[in-house]
Amino acid sequence: MLYLYNSATRQKEAFKPHDEKRTTMYTCGPTVYHYAHIGNLRSYIMEDILDRYLRYLGYPLKRVMNITDVGHLSSDADTGEDKMLKGAKREHKTVMEIAKFYTDAFFADCEKLRIRRPDVVEPATHCIGEFIKVIKKLLEKGYAYEAGGNIYFDTSKLEKYYIFNDFKEEDLAVGVREDVGEDTNKRNKADFVLWFTKSKFEDQELKWNSPWGVGYPGWHIECSCISMKHLGEYLDVHCGGIDNAFPHHTNEIAQSEAYLGHKWCNFWMHVHHLNTTSGKMSKSSGEFLTVSLLESKGYDPLAYRFFCLGSHYRKNLVFTYENLDNAAAAYDKLIARVAQLLKEAQGGVEEEKLAEMKAAFREALDNDLNTSLAVTALYDALKADATAATKLAAVKDFDTVLQLALIEKAEKKNEESYDENDPFVAEILGAIRARAQAKKEKNYAEADRIRAALLEKGVELVDTKEGTTFKIR
Ligand code: AMP
Ligand code: ZN
Repeated sequence: MLYLYNSATRQKEAFKPHDEKRTTMYTCGPTVYHYAHIGNLRSYIMEDILDRYLRYLGYPLKRVMNITDVGHLSSDADTGEDKMLKGAKREHKTVMEIAKFYTDAFFADCEKLRIRRPDVVEPATHCIGEFIKVIKKLLEKGYAYEAGGNIYFDTSKLEKYYIFNDFKEEDLAVGVREDVGEDTNKRNKADFVLWFTKSKFEDQELKWNSPWGVGYPGWHIECSCISMKHLGEYLDVHCGGIDNAFPHHTNEIAQSEAYLGHKWCNFWMHVHHLNTTSGKMSKSSGEFLTVSLLESKGYDPLAYRFFCLGSHYRKNLVFTYENLDNAAAAYDKLIARVAQLLKEAQGGVEEEKLAEMKAAFREALDNDLNTSLAVTALYDALKADATAATKLAAVKDFDTVLQLALIEKAEKKNEESYDENDPFVAEILGAIRARAQAKKEKNYAEADRIRAALLEKGVELVDTKEGTTFKIR
């Protein structure tokens, strides 16, 4: 039984979907005005573990993520300039050019980190009709009001507004930076904008017609609407970084439940921050830590994934190059260990021992996704008194969740460690190159012929993302 910490109730609870025929998960996607930093990506890696573990356990999961391409202002409250517009000005491009470029960059990073693409990815700008529909209903139901040209959510209409934080009204300077003034149209300090037609920034690039005038949506309404559009009225688990809990997720709950008239989401998973030694990770000050930067320094992106798995998602994690070096060294050793196993006489799979190994792995992840213990279960499996085949079966099984590419990397390592001066190895490598060339020239018949000819000699080619490797039978 999977137990997850639910930030809405502040306790670990047995995970139970609303409907046993489908499990629904929503993730706040990136604001695509810049590259994601590795802190953002820590959140997506840990959410990916939840995604993959739910599937591993057999839940029929549908996962949705938005892309924030409009409405996220410099402050998480309703003030400041739209982040997208700021990004566009910085790079002398249009907002849509910026959105496309950084959405692609985000998914390229995800691929390198083996973060699965959610089943549905929906940019906010594709859903304006949905936002208007929900805002209209909130106005009809008396949960929203118009003031100074904008539409606001009236938080005083709710019995309980503060779900994640027990803020008092007067403490509500949260999310509002000092350099941005307070919005005097709000009836209550906690109220938030659903639709803007008036803002200080008249050059807002993207605007749409609405019953309340030409304008653009607020950030919070995006996630509620995109989730409900694809996942319906009941959401099983909603994730995001811890900074999203307030006000973003608090506002999502307020408007979704006011709209639906019943409880919306059962579980809230929040990933704590990756910090630098000097504090919060930033895109504007200090070194802008991206996956590409790590690669340019010679790190394998999956060593960063491994680094993240070493600590619990509900603890802050400090990034230093020294910490990353340690993780990278341990990751290399792990691959070397698996590479060694591949070379050993493998024997048969001992089902009972394998079941024990899997049980230890599950026990770790069942306890609120304890990834570091899951990695320990992997080490224990490698050390166990069992056949190589049993251990490899465990590695393969665990890696469907951990996604460290252990088998592929180990095979590659073994291939690279072949003696290229050995005439047989040289022949195989030559054939692999010839096949790649044939494929490039779209001569698939020749490529197939080369593969078949090698197979005749007992050499099986394996195509991976990292290139083609081979196994000698
Ligand atoms: P954004 O692109 O700013 O909307 O953020 C994308 C995701 O990254 C959100 O879920 C944030 O909560 C999360 N996030 C932001 N900073 C960090 C950090 N330093 N560590 C972990 N997650 C973060
Ligand atoms: Zn969101």
